[in-house]
Amino acid sequence: MRRGRSGGARAGRGFGGIRWWVLLLFAGYAAFSWFGSAETDPYTGETAHYGASPVEEVQLGAQAYQQVLSDATAQGALLPADAEVSRQIREIAERLIAKVPAVTEALATENGQEAPQIYRDFQWDAAVIQSDDANAFVLPGGKIAVYTGLLPVAENQNAMAAILGHEIAHALLRHGSQRMAQQKLVQVGQMAAGVALGGMDPGQQQAVMAALGAGAQYGFILPYGRNHETQADKVGLMLAAAACFDPREAVPLWERMGRLGGGERPPEFASTHPDPANRQETLRALMPQAEAFYREHCADRPPLQ
Ligand SMILES: [Zn+2]
Repeated sequence: MRRGRSGGARAGRGFGGIRWWVLLLFAGYAAFSWFGSAETDPYTGETAHYGASPVEEVQLGAQAYQQVLSDATAQGALLPADAEVSRQIREIAERLIAKVPAVTEALATENGQEAPQIYRDFQWDAAVIQSDDANAFVLPGGKIAVYTGLLPVAENQNAMAAILGHEIAHALLRHGSQRMAQQKLVQVGQMAAGVALGGMDPGQQQAVMAALGAGAQYGFILPYGRNHETQADKVGLMLAAAACFDPREAVPLWERMGRLGGGERPPEFASTHPDPANRQETLRALMPQAEAFYREHCADRPPLQ
C-alpha cells in the first residue's frame, strides 16, 4: 500500500491519496462506536450515548467536587455546612432525593423501560457558595453546588425545589456522561481531520488527548444542550411534586430567571437553555402529570388549588 515518495506527497494534499482512507476509517470507527453505544434512557425513552460508566462518573464527579470545594474554601466563599442557608438547601435536596426511587420507577414504567438502579451508587451532597451569580450546578454522581446569588431569584422553597430538582435530574439522566460521549466524537473528528490533513506531530496529539481529559473533568460546569435542559425540567418537576413542593412555582421561577439580563444570566441558565417563554409553556403542559405525582405522594398535605 505504500506509495512512492512523490505520489505520497501529492496524495497527502489531495483527496485521492492514502490520508483520505484514514479519514474514512476514523469516520467508520466514530460511527460504529457512536451507534453501537446507543441506549434508551429510561427516564425519557429517548436515545442516549454515554461517554463514561456510572462508576467513572461518580469518581470524576467526586474529584471535581473536591476541587470546587477547595477553590471555594481558598476564596473564603464556602458557606459552613451548619449555616442556616446550607441547612435549608440540604433539607430541600434530601426531600427530593428521597423521592428518586419512586419517580424513577414511575417514569421508566411510562417509557416501557426497566427502572435503572444507577442512582443507588450516587454520593449526593450539596454545598452553598457565596457568589453574586444566580447559578447552580450538579456534578456527575450527585454533587450539587448552589451560589447564594440564586436565593433572591428563587424567592421561596418551592422554586428552590424546582431548581434543585432540575440539577438532581441532570445527574440522574447522566447528562455529564452524555456530553462526554459527544466530546469524544468531536475529538475523534478532530484527530481524523488532523491526520487526514497532513497529520499532527506528537505534541499536538498529546494536546488533543489532554483536552479530552480536561474536558471530562471540567466540562460539566458548561451549559447543557437545550434538549437536556428540557429533560431536566421535566424530571425535576416530577421530583419536586412527589416531594410535596408546589410544582406550579416552577413557572414564575423561570419567568424571573428569564428577566435576568443576558450578561447576568449564569452558565447553567444561559443562552442554550430553552427560551424562557417556551420553557414556561412546556412546564405548564407538564403540570397535570406533576399534580398527579403530588396527589399520589402527598395525601397528608393540603391539596393544590
Ligand atoms: Zn440545567
